[in-house]
Amino acid sequence: MRRITIVEDELSIAEMLRLNLELESFEVSVFHNGGEAIRNLETLTSSDLVILDVMLPEKTGFEILTEIRKISQVPAIILSAKGSTHDRIHGLKLGANDYLPKPFDLEELLLRIHNLLPDKETKNPNMSIGSKTVNIETFEVTSLESNTVEELSKREIELLQLFFEKSGQVVSRDEILDRLWGKDVFPTSRTIDNYILAFRKIFEKDPKNPVFFHSIRGVGYKFTP
Ligand code: CA
Repeated sequence: MRRITIVEDELSIAEMLRLNLELESFEVSVFHNGGEAIRNLETLTSSDLVILDVMLPEKTGFEILTEIRKISQVPAIILSAKGSTHDRIHGLKLGANDYLPKPFDLEELLLRIHNLLPDKETKNPNMSIGSKTVNIETFEVTSLESNTVEELSKREIELLQLFFEKSGQVVSRDEILDRLWGKDVFPTSRTIDNYILAFRKIFEKDPKNPVFFHSIRGVGYKFTP
């Protein structure tokens, strides 16, 4: 079951959201206090989606989102009475995926939630690279030729997904860093290079002459399926 975490201090809104999301078959966690949400950050980052109010006791929704984005790209919707253009831009810049001013329309919110959630039931979890198949849910790479199974890390899977989305295009280092590490962490370029070297070892017949994972000097990387 997919889980949504709500941080909202107005009890009536929090309960209304909980009931309606449960009717939509979501499991729902609720925090009524910003500080409490940050102390339980793991609950938020392990959710499938988070809904954040902005004006909260102790910590604002913006502060919570900043903490989340240091370690996670979980889809986040801000729901706030602070609905000015300035506030919305601020929220989106911090990494919110959507921003709905209060009062909001429930049907619209539900539609926006569904838009942000990948449709797990119908999505094929397999990606093919050469003679190997990557399962993005089990993190396993299986080889048709040698019948072997290798396991990738979550970050390797995320990087592969990014390459797949951008097949044939150059993906810059900044884009990779933003998407995988968040804005406040700065791994060195070498870190990404090491991921590419690992991918070549796994997927390329001849890692020295790659056909899938290319380095574009000074710019970034390109994946050619
Ligand atoms: Ca509030």
